Amino acid sequence: MATHHTKMLIIGSGPAGYSAAIYGARAMLEPIVVQGLQPGGQLTITTDVENYPGFRDVVQGPWLMEEMQAQAEHVGTRMMWDTIVDVDLAGGSPFRAVGDSGDEYIADTVVIATGAQAKWLGVPGEQELGGKGVSACATCDGFFFRGKKVVVIGGGNTAVEEALYLTNHSDDVTLIHRRDELRSEKILQERLFASDKITPLWNKTVQRFVAGENGALHHLELVDTVTGETSTLEADGAFVAIGHAPATELFTGKLPMDDGGYLLVEPGTPKTEIPGVFACGDVMDHTYRQAVTAAGTGCMAALDAERFLATLEHAKAEAAE
Ligand code: NDP
Repeated sequence: MATHHTKMLIIGSGPAGYSAAIYGARAMLEPIVVQGLQPGGQLTITTDVENYPGFRDVVQGPWLMEEMQAQAEHVGTRMMWDTIVDVDLAGGSPFRAVGDSGDEYIADTVVIATGAQAKWLGVPGEQELGGKGVSACATCDGFFFRGKKVVVIGGGNTAVEEALYLTNHSDDVTLIHRRDELRSEKILQERLFASDKITPLWNKTVQRFVAGENGALHHLELVDTVTGETSTLEADGAFVAIGHAPATELFTGKLPMDDGGYLLVEPGTPKTEIPGVFACGDVMDHTYRQAVTAAGTGCMAALDAERFLATLEHAKAEAAE
């Protein structure tokens, strides 16, 4: 067990955390990134990335995150293979955090970049059939269901985008939604309804994923939300697309959050209500949720942390005079 002192502690290692680290290190803040359970974040479970600027050709998500990590280290960031399990923010700067390893981190500023994770339905068969037909990422796993029968569960932008994406691989895509009206943007709805490969199935929830003899997904048991009737639907692949949950458990009761658990920041900035504590990336952004927007807010967090430290130094110098 050791105690690490830093001017900037970054919790989380997706595009937001690494971008904050790159800017923080170049401002001589000697940042420490505590990487968490999934170093690299959500991009490490995706494949093709073709919307991150700077790459003419498609790049792979895990590769992109390795490059970001290497760049952050190259400019002077320390990476810790640890997970923060407790934070003490109430007393103001310097803040204290404790890792799973037992190590302690004393930090003048904290940048929270813990990201978000896909939500699951929490019904029988879902976790058991993960990797055997049930997935939360069509762009990661859709390819495995070429020419097969697939379903998407959800009615938001993610669900509709995933259903449209899956038509690249399958001619038989069913979108299962618990109401008879989609939440997604109209333009996406128009594309969905125009596709002859997608069949919407309204007013249905999934109550169970059932395996076949080969141990892979065979069918779904559904319940009609209006009549209560049950039915079954055969499918080789099922994609759960019912939204994302931010990783903010660590901050419950310590920082203000919205109803969805996303950290609240001063609009247009990464500043939380505690001076010196910043939030960036998917943990504070449920609207855009892109690698490039996460990187952008990570940069903003580092710049604001630098300004906060300069003000602190100035105040200390004045007090000493
Ligand atoms: P949303 O929260 O927008 O939608 C979740 C959907 O899942 C809703 O239709 C909801 O139903 C349904 N749902 C939630 N829980 C359950 C459940 N237990 N059982 C069955 N259905 C359930 O999440 P998204 O991930 O789609 O989008 C999140 C945000 O990201 C949004 O702001 C979205 O606009 C944005 N986004 C933008 C994209 C883009 O601009 N290209 C792409 C993807 C996301 P109900 O409608 O009944 O509540």
